[in-house]
Amino acid sequence: MEKSRAIQKLRGHRYLIGSVLISLLFVIAPVVGRRPAQAKDECPVRVTLLDVNDVYQFTPIDGGTRGGLARILTLRKQIMKESPNTLYLLAGDTISPSVESNTYKGKQMIDAWNLSGLDYATFGNHEFDFGPDVLKSRIAESNFKWLAANVVDKRTGKTFADTPEFVVREFDGVKIGFFGIVVQETLLTSRPGPNVDILDPCATAERVIPKIHAVGAKVIIALTHETIAEDKQLARCSGVDAIIGGHEHTLLQSVAGHAPIVKMDADARELGRVDLHISKRTGELESIDMQVIPVTQQIADDPAFIVLDRKYGELMRTLAVPVGRTAVELDVRSANVRTKETNMADFIADALRHAVGAEVALVNGGSIRADNVFQPSMLTKREVLSMLPFNSRIVKLQVTGATIKAALEHGVATAAEEVQPGRFPQVSGMTYSFDARRKPGDRVLSINVNGKPLDFSQTYTLATTNYLTVEHGDGYDMLGTNYLLRPEQGPVDSEVLLKAIAAAQVIAPKIDSRIKRIDTAASPERCN
Ligand SMILES: [Zn+2]
Repeated sequence: MEKSRAIQKLRGHRYLIGSVLISLLFVIAPVVGRRPAQAKDECPVRVTLLDVNDVYQFTPIDGGTRGGLARILTLRKQIMKESPNTLYLLAGDTISPSVESNTYKGKQMIDAWNLSGLDYATFGNHEFDFGPDVLKSRIAESNFKWLAANVVDKRTGKTFADTPEFVVREFDGVKIGFFGIVVQETLLTSRPGPNVDILDPCATAERVIPKIHAVGAKVIIALTHETIAEDKQLARCSGVDAIIGGHEHTLLQSVAGHAPIVKMDADARELGRVDLHISKRTGELESIDMQVIPVTQQIADDPAFIVLDRKYGELMRTLAVPVGRTAVELDVRSANVRTKETNMADFIADALRHAVGAEVALVNGGSIRADNVFQPSMLTKREVLSMLPFNSRIVKLQVTGATIKAALEHGVATAAEEVQPGRFPQVSGMTYSFDARRKPGDRVLSINVNGKPLDFSQTYTLATTNYLTVEHGDGYDMLGTNYLLRPEQGPVDSEVLLKAIAAAQVIAPKIDSRIKRIDTAASPERCN
């Protein structure tokens, strides 16, 4: 209620100007032969936007209880009967990462979106994970339009893959403009290649919005994939009418400038609905209604999705095979595995250490994915693989105690500075404590290996992955090259995890305080 009142108030002055124009039209209309406005013209035009974001699988999630694009298609068709002017939007992140994408590189999602009748999508950071050429292939396969006004090809200065800078849609005589914005951090966290640049969102809006106005659209929607803080800034600097966003994997509803900003949870657990009421006479936005629709198992699948079962069903069925059971909740939320110990990160680090018979193990939190809490139940192969989707190989190294200290210091060196540092060290065979309020490089307060304080001059055997060693991922170069088991000889991490769960049949990992964080993970300096 607060939000709609605020919007009405902010719109008030425009409405007044609109009324003056309407009065003028009444005077002019008979002169130019136009019929005076009828009473029914008073009704604003309703345009419905349906939105999801960060959707990595088209099948349901959470043991089948939530999500599923076949259910959303059922909802979309129902809504279109009641509100024919409906557009379906995806606010980025769908091609990667997922278990299926290891095989199909996101093609399975494009097939699902084409079936869904998606209208527009913006790129998420993960759209570039397989490089710009794979993304171009996915764009070519899409029956919907991709929008990303701030993603440009450095060689031409034009938008990447010649995607439109904006689109304008007309419904019952009113026009709405849409443009897409992608988080600039993609340049560092994904693989857009040397020819792609991602420009400042506000500067981009400043470039694009006058062009949208020039073709007669007064209502402007930004379809974005960036942090909520960046969305709020965009709302303030651009004056857009609404932001449909993604990236956080969290249900968020905010207002900044005069624009509501909406984001759903990941994997289509909800469908967002935004009804825009636009004046027929002025083309201005009069009001907005918003709704969050839970996507549950009570909603039937649309039968159109059967073709996907024929195409991808075999892989899906292989992945649906139960591997073992968890008796407890398994915490693999990114916000946790990248900032502190969790029970499943412990289990994974233990499995990797045991697989190669090392004294200690170090795994970067960023390699543990799924970003979920698995409830006590059977675990499918898909669910287990989703926790380690990169298929890294385990290596075994001989290192000194001093190296272990340096590696842990490096691992926590951005614990206060970054929100979710991928380098954060999950460990096995050792315990450590740290205080991220201290200076980077001097944060680790104690380290114990096998119950004894770390001896800097002693050598230890360490299990880790090829990502942190040969691929120089996350900057752990201090680990060196003193291999006892080289990457080409080492087992694949996800296979090790599958075997560990299958061997145990039932797992119930507990946090055993191997990592003690003295400060709290939440950084109070961060502002929205
Ligand atoms: Zn994202």
